[in-house]
Amino acid sequence: MAHRITLIPGDGIGPEVADATVRAVEAAGVSAVWERVEVGAAAVAHSGEILPKAVFESLDRTHVGLKGPTATPVAGGHRSINVALRKRLDLYTNFRPVRMLPGLKTRFQGVLIDMVIFRENTEDLYSGLEHEVVKDVVESLKVITRAASIRIARATFQYARRESRKKVTAVHKANIMKMSDGLFLRCCREVAADFSEIKYEELIVDNACMQLVMRPETFDVLLLPNLYGDIVSDLAAGLVGGLGIVPGANLGEHDAIFEAVHGTAPDIAGQGKANPTALMQSAALMLAHIDEREAAIRLHQALEGVYAQGRHLTVDVGGGASTDEFTNAVIGQMQ
Ligand code: NAD
Repeated sequence: MAHRITLIPGDGIGPEVADATVRAVEAAGVSAVWERVEVGAAAVAHSGEILPKAVFESLDRTHVGLKGPTATPVAGGHRSINVALRKRLDLYTNFRPVRMLPGLKTRFQGVLIDMVIFRENTEDLYSGLEHEVVKDVVESLKVITRAASIRIARATFQYARRESRKKVTAVHKANIMKMSDGLFLRCCREVAADFSEIKYEELIVDNACMQLVMRPETFDVLLLPNLYGDIVSDLAAGLVGGLGIVPGANLGEHDAIFEAVHGTAPDIAGQGKANPTALMQSAALMLAHIDEREAAIRLHQALEGVYAQGRHLTVDVGGGASTDEFTNAVIGQMQ
């Protein structure tokens, strides 16, 4: 039976990496009906809305989405579509596995990097609550709640137990934000107490960044509030070859949207040189989520095969191949 999947191509390089990923998923042997819906600028042209009802109607049917990046205007303009989607569907877990691909030449080549980031996805400074108190004085509200902190901590430790991971590191700035990050930490400790077989440690975010660069191999599972999770994800991507590589999943109780860590990459959009690996790896996570485990493994192994050979890599990771050439090589591995 064909899976119904909501496909949100997004902006910038989004449509390029989304098309490449659809081809790779189909080559992995999965039969899918793609419900293609537009958000952002493309959606405004059709419906006058940046996040039209059709997106939610489709996700209500499919409960699973594959999404390209969407552009968010800086210092003004509309609210982030990502934040709106994650909040509306209550996709409270942002899950990002960060691993080395075989053969890929990076500054950390030879270092065993295998860490998993759990980022709280619904609150913190992403609540979008900002106001001007008096002229030239602005407040942004950082919202941390016990309910959201407990559930992300629980999701993290449950994953760690299921996957036999050894250590969870909670990342915070509770020395300065004693109340908000303090609450986050207390919730992490409370949940950690129920998982005594898993080592639990805490690091202040600035120190965590330094240690991630100095000793990335010592990290296992990271548990972070929204903002630090966002920043540390890009740092971690840099350790394993850049934003072209690292996948992600936004997970809630009922719905899941799979998307890469990277943004719309406006500097290379439309040039046919975007690296679709991150979205393909996100699709592999999606296939596992919809119980297409064999196809997930096939796609993952095909990606590993292309990296191990090193002959069809995109420009961002030191190769000369186009998005299409890379995609053909991945598909070739599955034939
Ligand atoms: P970005 O991730 O788009 O790009 C940063 C750098 O990484 C650029 O040099 C880009 O060329 C490179 N890069 C990113 N993905 C790549 C890929 N797949 N292949 C090759 N190179 C790649 O970050 P940015 O420039 O800060 O943000 C651009 C826009 O994307 C902004 O509007 C931002 O809000 C948005 N954004 C969206 C998401 C999302 O939808 N999930 C995430 C992050 C940023």
